[in-house]
Amino acid sequence: MATDVPKELADHYDVLIVGGGHAGAQVAIALRQRNFEGTVAIVTEELEPPYERPPLSKEYLSGDKDFDRILIRPLDFWRDRTIDLGLGRRVNEVNAKAHRVTVADGTTLGYGQLVWAAGGHARRMPCSGHNLAGVHSIRSHKDVDRLQSELATTTKVGVIGGGYIGLEAAAVLTKLGKHVTVLEALDRVLARVAGEPLSRFYEAEHRAHGVDLRLNTAVACIEDRDGRACGVRLADGEVIACEMVIVGIGMIPSVAALRDAGAAGDSGVDVDEHCRTTLPDVFAIGDCAAHENALAGGARIRLESVQNANDMANAVAQTITGLPQSYHAIPWFWSNQYDLRLQTVGLSLNHDEALVRGDPGTRSFSVIYRRAGRVIALDCVNSTKDYVQGRRLVVEGSKASSEALRDTAIILKEL
Ligand SMILES: Cc1cc2nc3c(=O)[nH]c(=O)nc-3n(C[C@H](O)[C@H](O)[C@H](O)COP(=O)(O)OP(=O)(O)OC[C@H]3O[C@@H](n4cnc5c(N)ncnc54)[C@H](O)[C@@H]3O)c2cc1C
Repeated sequence: MATDVPKELADHYDVLIVGGGHAGAQVAIALRQRNFEGTVAIVTEELEPPYERPPLSKEYLSGDKDFDRILIRPLDFWRDRTIDLGLGRRVNEVNAKAHRVTVADGTTLGYGQLVWAAGGHARRMPCSGHNLAGVHSIRSHKDVDRLQSELATTTKVGVIGGGYIGLEAAAVLTKLGKHVTVLEALDRVLARVAGEPLSRFYEAEHRAHGVDLRLNTAVACIEDRDGRACGVRLADGEVIACEMVIVGIGMIPSVAALRDAGAAGDSGVDVDEHCRTTLPDVFAIGDCAAHENALAGGARIRLESVQNANDMANAVAQTITGLPQSYHAIPWFWSNQYDLRLQTVGLSLNHDEALVRGDPGTRSFSVIYRRAGRVIALDCVNSTKDYVQGRRLVVEGSKASSEALRDTAIILKEL
């Protein structure tokens, strides 16, 4: 991969973006699309230009896509639009009063407006063995490269966590011929993000593909043999033997520098409807930004999705270019496991009803979530039509009857 990106940065930028993930890249792209003529730089701790993260547990892990194909833009793009890339630069300190940040190598950079788009890092297991060789998380392309370099000598993989990343990795590794055991502490997979019918469907799918899926299973520690993981010990004493452990138990927002500078926040950094933090001229966007979301009943939440990163970035670019627009997007998300494409629209958080539309046995169906009789979200499995048409029901908070929503003879558009 070519890396002829500018190594020297200017002393000051009109817009300085910290973090070169989906959110950081999109602010810079949107600023130039909106003819912003000021100076713009992205400084990011990773050594590579902005790339897409979703393929890391899908096509990049399976080897179906190489790194160049997951770049958000080709390298020339940044140069042609005079967006400076400061790669391999971690920002450790923000001085909001002086409008300067300090990079890990001690250099400082001034800004007119700062956009904090630093995402987060993978949560580690809070038990012994969490840092042994052979224990992996999937957050960066380096993580996946490391993991892949050990695959040839691996036959058994223990996956801790039955969320999207753990399940996607389990699907890829099973297809690659590995024996995979998924360990989930709760009584169903995807419990944090989906309703029971969807969890049960995916549990059955993984088992049908040969995954040993254990629910209600607490991990005691990761077993050590000569500095390498050799198994996962469960709370009941059983040891699941494996040469590789993948930990998929969520992420921790990277906001220490902003919080030290005085930004308010509890989980991540709090932002208003324009993605402004409580610090002057400092925005926060993407995975690390906690905003009040109307679809969550006004609760302050962080969303971890490409849609949220891109839409927040676009909102900030609009504000910076003088046309502020509040961030009120309808969340959407996707996940690929085996030949199943899941598409989600809305937020199923706090639903009080989950209606199944279609027959999960056909592997094409939807789960429609309602709260107080109104549609709030849909999870659509191999059912793009429902996903596209159901969006409107979410936007309008449709009160269509359960019978109509379940009836596949009625297309959702008609409701
Ligand atoms: C394996 C995986 C699969 C996913 N699959 C999907 C999917 O299918 N669909 C979907 O919608 N979403 C998916 N997501 C979530 C999606 O990728 C994230 O929501 C999105 O990447 C968030 O973008 P971001 O820019 O906020 O953060 P990130 O993409 O995490 O980017 C943040 C960047 O900032 C850098 N950084 C952190 N701290 C500092 C610092 N102090 N100084 C400088 N740089 C710093 C980081 O190294 C990183 O490069 C997936 C995520 C992962 C990890």
